[in-house]
Amino acid sequence: MNVPHESGTVLRWPYAVRYGTERDYEADVLVIGGGIAGVWAAIAAASTGAKVIVLEKAATERSGAGGPGVDHWQWAADNPGSRISPEELAQALVDNQGGYRSGISTYIQCASAWETLEEMERMGGKIRDTGDEFRGAEFRDEKTKLLYAYDYTNRFVLRVWGHNFKPLMREQCRRLGIRVFDRVAVTSILTEGGRPGARVVGAAGVHCHSGAYVAVRAKAVVLATNRPKRIWTFSSELRGITTFRPPSCSGTGYAIAYRAGAEFAMMEKSMRSSFASPYAYPPYGSGNAINTWYPCTIVDANGKEVPWVDAWGRPVSGVAARCRPVEGQKFFIMGGGSSSQPHPGLPQHLGPKPIPDLEARMLAGEFVPPFYADLAGMPEMERKAIWGIMVGNEGKTRIPVMKTYMASGFDPERDMLQSYDFLRGHGMREPVLPQERTFGEQGVCGGMLVDWDLMSNLPGLFGAGDLLFGGQDHSHAAASGRFAGARAALHARRSSAGEVSLEQIEREKKRVYAPLACSAAGPDWKELNAAVARVMQNYCSELKNAELLSLAKTWLDDLQANEVPRVSAGDPHQLMRVLEVHDIVTCAQMIVSACEARKASSAYLHFNRRDYPQMDPAEWHKWLVIRKQGEDVAVSDRPIAFWGDFESNYRPRHAENAAAMASASQAASRAAA
Ligand SMILES: Cc1cc2nc3c(=O)[nH]c(=O)nc-3n(C[C@H](O)[C@H](O)[C@H](O)COP(=O)(O)OP(=O)(O)OC[C@H]3O[C@@H](n4cnc5c(N)ncnc54)[C@H](O)[C@@H]3O)c2cc1C
Repeated sequence: MNVPHESGTVLRWPYAVRYGTERDYEADVLVIGGGIAGVWAAIAAASTGAKVIVLEKAATERSGAGGPGVDHWQWAADNPGSRISPEELAQALVDNQGGYRSGISTYIQCASAWETLEEMERMGGKIRDTGDEFRGAEFRDEKTKLLYAYDYTNRFVLRVWGHNFKPLMREQCRRLGIRVFDRVAVTSILTEGGRPGARVVGAAGVHCHSGAYVAVRAKAVVLATNRPKRIWTFSSELRGITTFRPPSCSGTGYAIAYRAGAEFAMMEKSMRSSFASPYAYPPYGSGNAINTWYPCTIVDANGKEVPWVDAWGRPVSGVAARCRPVEGQKFFIMGGGSSSQPHPGLPQHLGPKPIPDLEARMLAGEFVPPFYADLAGMPEMERKAIWGIMVGNEGKTRIPVMKTYMASGFDPERDMLQSYDFLRGHGMREPVLPQERTFGEQGVCGGMLVDWDLMSNLPGLFGAGDLLFGGQDHSHAAASGRFAGARAALHARRSSAGEVSLEQIEREKKRVYAPLACSAAGPDWKELNAAVARVMQNYCSELKNAELLSLAKTWLDDLQANEVPRVSAGDPHQLMRVLEVHDIVTCAQMIVSACEARKASSAYLHFNRRDYPQMDPAEWHKWLVIRKQGEDVAVSDRPIAFWGDFESNYRPRHAENAAAMASASQAASRAAA
């Protein structure tokens, strides 16, 4: 097969092409998406003795948002140094989002992030300052050698050396006999009788190199494919390192679960986000005081230090004070100037940040641009933590930022790093237009609705990681993946294998291979993606009303009916891209349906309905849930804290998971002896 290249030359497709050839497999538990949540789910399921298969679109060793690394392990309230209980921390995280954060998976994270990290340590991950590089630092516990971030008093976020966690997890899959199939883009969930809403019996997809069809029959399926992207902004030319999340995470999991009849919550939330801008510098690659760079000192062009204030606007002086709760606060969960749109979180949970009126004060002449991150002026331990553990292990910064800058002569003890605040191109706080929105590049967003087993309304379909409604973070993906994998394995143990519908397989094969038969003269996947983004920019942007949303729906339906069938693919890679964009159309339709259903504005959801301008009225303080029903969308709602009590729902399930893993491990030891 020859593939035209933009250089004008014709390249040979390097793999044998096998369109239509079917490869069938069977497992107790199938995991879709070999990212952080998926691999943890696979490891947990296999640790209970289940037969596990992972289907991953890219290469599991490094795939997904967390593949390149992790530097901060969030909300580990179960760690030995924490002074805050999982209940208190989970509730604060939920309250900080006005209730629009999942109490279920957030509690699982707060109650088991540490035990998950301990398992990572047993796999070979470095989680302690074993070389005593930070001996005596304020953020180090001398006994355990653990290092903490943000709130040094209450100690529930750990600094970790996570650049190789993903390869270590891949190695663990080998040890546990998990079958990992890389380069398989899953395109549908298989249900009993092929009926939407029925029990889930497996999934199927296309191999991205050969084009072969891969079908797996399983008693339980864990979906862990992260969130939709490229809904409002798409440019094939301005992307690369400027995007935050990897292109393989394109929302397919949402589309396939929705088509199968799964329920989704909070799909109406979207926001302006620096992370969506195609003009941004590499994330964490320019001077800032956010997340990884917290609590870095910022100075102006004359070296004048930018003051910091607490959540009530009171001055906070000195680096040490930025890392302790202030008067009126028991603990804080976030600090640093963090977003282009103010976060409406509660002051008692927000940490110190550089003055929010810096721009006005600069325009009045008090500060002179450009600004710089003054690493050289930081206390030595803080400097070494930021430009060392944090930038050295944060996703996507180890090589592009740390290694490249240092190879070019950057010396954190001597040099300052320019910030692009108030210029164009900041790597963290890009000034973005209202229509440059993101669904889930950043923060807590909508996703698949699950219960305390992390199972959806479809029997046998579990979810984990960023795809879950109202959850986020690496440690959340790890802890929820581990929990979902064990629950799925126990579900599989209690279930018989369901029948895969041959009719569904044939119907799906016809759908996924259709782009191969389209004329190359039609639009390509990039044009279709750009068209979706333009529709969403125009009609589902910051300001919404019924008329605009109805136009969005009309245009998306038009694209679905008239353009989707014309987009062609010339090789298996293009086929994967075309199918991704088909699913992006579905994700956009899901978002518009949810936006139509919420007839009130909400600051927490960054949701502005001009025809319902009242912000967060009490009667709309609830989750909106959408589900596909034939060609219609069924809308229902759930009370804001519908999950009930944390401990009594979590603890018995956690105990059952642990017992299943312990008994499988004992059985394995007996067999080995
Ligand atoms: C640059 C960066 C830095 C970050 N730093 C931190 C940090 O320090 N601390 C923190 O808490 N969080 C951090 N995060 C967030 C964290 O990485 C994510 O929360 C976490 O990776 C989510 O895990 P996941 O398993 O849900 O998704 P992912 O890890 O993205 O995995 C999803 C997987 O699904 C695969 N997939 C997608 N579609 C399909 C399909 N159709 N078929 C088969 N496979 C498919 C993808 O290829 C991918 O491997 C960071 C994120 C980024 C992007």
